[in-house]
Amino acid sequence: MLIAPEIHLVGSGQFGFQITDLMDCNVYLIDAGSEAFLIDAGGGVQPELIVKQIEQSGISTDKITRLLLTHIHGDHAAGASYFQQRYGWKVIVSKEAAPWLEAADHDKTSLNAAIAAGVYPENFKYEPCPVSRSVEDGDRLEIGNVRLQVIETPGHSRGHVSYVWERQGQRLIFSGDVIFAGGKIVLQQTWDCVIQDYAKSIERLHELNIDALFPGHGPFITANAARHIAMAHSKFARLELPPNL
Ligand SMILES: [Zn+2]
Repeated sequence: MLIAPEIHLVGSGQFGFQITDLMDCNVYLIDAGSEAFLIDAGGGVQPELIVKQIEQSGISTDKITRLLLTHIHGDHAAGASYFQQRYGWKVIVSKEAAPWLEAADHDKTSLNAAIAAGVYPENFKYEPCPVSRSVEDGDRLEIGNVRLQVIETPGHSRGHVSYVWERQGQRLIFSGDVIFAGGKIVLQQTWDCVIQDYAKSIERLHELNIDALFPGHGPFITANAARHIAMAHSKFARLELPPNL
């Protein structure tokens, strides 16, 4: 589904538009001219539904070269191994989270905690996935005609990055689980969720004056997204917490 120039939504689950499996985060497909790439992989329960959405977008899976992950929680990254194995897409993730994805570390990814809490089903699978490139703050990615900048945005989880795209005077961000429409956030009782880190990440995004926001769940915002980020920022600035998604 084309949602903005060159940007297709090809996956979205229970906290979004329910176009694929319920366990899927928002999965974005970006047409970069000579190549294409995905942002996040979904939960891997029914990845073939994402493939179907890709086919409907008119972009061939052969054109896709890379899969960029924002973080390694199951609903964003457990699908990565399916795409990597089946299509050979190169997987890109933060330096900190790369070993956790490669080992499918059930503790570091908080999968064990999510299953114990009943948030994920008992039989939820998370297979190890080889990483082609691990990135850190300030890194730049060139894919086809798209230039992205990596910014580290911890708080919701460790090893969380966002991808910023400057496109024709507009600043777009693929922000994973850091910030959502309406200034919402996702704080969880997990080992690596840190309020102070979260506030710093939101402050950084606030300073970036973002135009368009493509979050990991829920609606995307195609203009004046800074207004939504400012809502979360003003809460943190008053030592309060923004509302949870
Ligand atoms: Zn998450």
